[in-house]
Amino acid sequence: MHDILDYSIEDLKDYISKLNQNKFISTQIFDWIYKKKVFDFNKMTNLSNPIRQHFNEKFKINLLNIKNKQISKDTTKYLFELNDDNFIESVIMKHKYGISICVSSQIGCNMCCRFCESGRLKKIRNLTVGEMVNQILTAENNIYERISSVVIMGIGEPFDNYDNVIKFIKIINDKNGLNIGARHITVSTSGIIKCIEKYSNENLQTNLAISLHAPTDEIRDKIMPINKLYNIKSLINSINDYIKKTNRKVGLEYLLLKNINDSKKCAEDLINLVKGMNIYINLIEYNKTNNIEFESTSKEKIIEFYNILKNKNIDVSIRRKFGINIDGGCGQLSSQYLQDNT
Ligand code: SAH
Repeated sequence: MHDILDYSIEDLKDYISKLNQNKFISTQIFDWIYKKKVFDFNKMTNLSNPIRQHFNEKFKINLLNIKNKQISKDTTKYLFELNDDNFIESVIMKHKYGISICVSSQIGCNMCCRFCESGRLKKIRNLTVGEMVNQILTAENNIYERISSVVIMGIGEPFDNYDNVIKFIKIINDKNGLNIGARHITVSTSGIIKCIEKYSNENLQTNLAISLHAPTDEIRDKIMPINKLYNIKSLINSINDYIKKTNRKVGLEYLLLKNINDSKKCAEDLINLVKGMNIYINLIEYNKTNNIEFESTSKEKIIEFYNILKNKNIDVSIRRKFGINIDGGCGQLSSQYLQDNT
């Protein structure tokens, strides 16, 4: 069985042409799924009976199974069960400007960032395009509201599932698909530089965020093993190349960990590192995970760190916290359903 959500409209056009049918059927099917939110070929009343039957036989069209749902104020965390009995989580957040979703891209993660819960389970497999699209469709169907922005910041390293992530972005951005504006889509990477380069050639108007988290190799090596492969200098070079090619501002995420990367000296090193670059810095407060070796930087120290950057005219913000009491914050999502629920 094919998953209809794996298909871009072009794929579907090709497929339908091969059946010697009118390509317009692909637009009709997209319209049913992405605009009318109908997930049953039998209910697609403008399709002929033979076409409905063909799609029933060859394609699955179903939302994800919501295994668990936790709500805290403006945040809802979903635990989704996949067809092969694996689990992933997604989080939706209500803002003044609309609803955003944090989508997972893999089951588990191989990046081994020491402060992140999602990587406690090593990567089991990449998510398919359809499974990523389906996180949005299932959440929208559950809340009866439109999701208007997407961050690919859930479980997994999106650039370790590069091709599927790019196709996912194109489908949700497509006017015939969910029509989510490119500027409302952000992909965050721990810094796989060969993919940053590829991404710069995709001609997308989406946002790129980089998990920098340290101003020196000495510190980054200790908390993000990927730094041993792509050190800070090579990462910064690749970000600069990206900015040059795309003319887009890049977000640098900086997770503040007590006594590890939150000193004044670190703030100054960070300023020197990014001086003159077209970037903004998003300071992130550490969310507690099962790893007890890290502690959050205090609110006062976060503001102090922020002010040091601000005073040097760095574009900086402190990320708003969402859903911490339901473990729905950055770095708290997990594929380990059994372990966390028994
Ligand atoms: N794999 C991608 C997406 C990860 S999650 C990446 O590394 O960019 C989004 C952000 O949350 C990343 O910047 C990640 O480093 C950060 N994060 C991870 N664990 C965290 C924690 N315990 N508290 C706060 N942020 C965390």
